[in-house]
Amino acid sequence: GYPEKERVQLNRKGVLTIDDFRKVGEVVEAGRGHGDSLPPSQPPQEMVSPVVVIDSREVRGGELFIALKGENADGHCFIGTVFEKGASWAMVSRQWYEEQGSVDPPPGKGFIVTDDTVAGLQQLATIYRHQFSIPVLAIGGSNGKTTTKEMVASVLGTGFRVHMSEGNRNNHLGVPLTLLQLRGDTDIAVVEMGINHPGEMVLLAAIGSPTHALLTNIGHEHLEFLVDLDGVEAAEIPLFDYLRQSGGIAFVNMDDPRISAAASGMAGSVPYGMATRSEHSCWARDISVNSAGALSFLLCSIAGSEPVTLNFTGKHNVMNAIAAATVGHYFGLSLCQIREGLERLTPAPGWKRLEVLDACGVRILNDTYNANSDSMRKAIDALCDLPGAGKRVAVLGDMLELGLAGEVEHQAIGNYLQQSSVDLLFTFGESARLFGRAVPERYRGHFESREALLEALRTVLQEGDIVLFKGSRGMKLEQVVDALINAK
Ligand code: ATP
Ligand code: MG
Repeated sequence: GYPEKERVQLNRKGVLTIDDFRKVGEVVEAGRGHGDSLPPSQPPQEMVSPVVVIDSREVRGGELFIALKGENADGHCFIGTVFEKGASWAMVSRQWYEEQGSVDPPPGKGFIVTDDTVAGLQQLATIYRHQFSIPVLAIGGSNGKTTTKEMVASVLGTGFRVHMSEGNRNNHLGVPLTLLQLRGDTDIAVVEMGINHPGEMVLLAAIGSPTHALLTNIGHEHLEFLVDLDGVEAAEIPLFDYLRQSGGIAFVNMDDPRISAAASGMAGSVPYGMATRSEHSCWARDISVNSAGALSFLLCSIAGSEPVTLNFTGKHNVMNAIAAATVGHYFGLSLCQIREGLERLTPAPGWKRLEVLDACGVRILNDTYNANSDSMRKAIDALCDLPGAGKRVAVLGDMLELGLAGEVEHQAIGNYLQQSSVDLLFTFGESARLFGRAVPERYRGHFESREALLEALRTVLQEGDIVLFKGSRGMKLEQVVDALINAK
């Protein structure tokens, strides 16, 4: 063991020591090697939660602050501030350190000097994660990761102490930060892993060393970099490959042909799907939607069945729930516990994934969180599945970041709309115009500004109507939703 003063205690199991820091970079403490004129070095204070932060505003006292260079800000500009606010350590780049004249940190503080602070964060998380011999479930896939993660955590929460990724922290920074939040009393970690470039999953899997994994589906995500479904598959499947090599367990969506094919022959696989099949761990029957959007279904497994009502709309969420149920079932929870876990989960305010809202009797489906062509189809289905006698209005904005696939993807959604029971289509954005091509003119309108769109909505909407809002995050359609709710 290390002398007590050299130890930065995170919790009873997870500990980061000066030696761990040395594996990541050069440790520089105040007063070391500078003669007697400087005050003697104080051991840095103990860390308190959250112990590792990349945002200077999150510093409360005792943390390790990791200075990252982002698009808008450089964390190195805040080193003075974070030390003043009580951070104990700062991981900084060698370049910055040398530009500062290789000065010591203030008394009682420490630097970890590394060539690359992103790599440093990832290395530290890898070291820390290996102190835990708990199940770590990675959730990847194209659509529904965050939703599934929330459902899995809620289900597992009925029997275990669960640590999960916060919000959508799922990338090369979010995954290590999530792992660094593991605490000694955690039973199971649920870590969302999101990628948009080839090769990223290999890195995330190496950092997280998952023992279990679930891929929600292989769909049309991030085509700007992943090009097509083959590209998406090649980028996502390495998560299963990691488990194949390490002897882990994969939860396998049998309804997705690419996923089921990739998992074939895996020793540790737990299959699930919507349909009743003897090999499925869990499946669903009798799905219905009420006028408030809530989904009901019969959750089935070999152990029996249990009626479930979700506080979510959109039938794809039944699949997300079946995935969560499969994980719960695998970890030994009863169908009753699984039901409780699924039913007690409600979308947080600002969820914006098919969030059901009301504006004076007009039902709003706020799906403005993001959009790709798969989630667009699911959202249109959700709009059409909601029972009600009023008009069904789709307000759709551009799907961004599609690269060369953009035109084809937008037109395909137009064809889908044309086949649907949507009564009126309002489009916003240059690419969104393409949605309208297949739709007769009298059933559509195109708007150049959010103000004009809002104005038109105010004119056409009547009590009992249902309106879906969806577009990529950059289209900021939630502004129109907010205005409609506040002004209607
Ligand atoms: P991100 O890539 O931003 O992390 P995600 O994979 O975490 O996304 P969610 O945030 O859960 O996914 O949902 C994003 C969008 O996908 C929402 O519009 C949601 O309605 C839709 N969605 C959720 N689950 C599915 C699914 N199983 N299939 C298709 N679309 C889905
Ligand atoms: Mg997500």
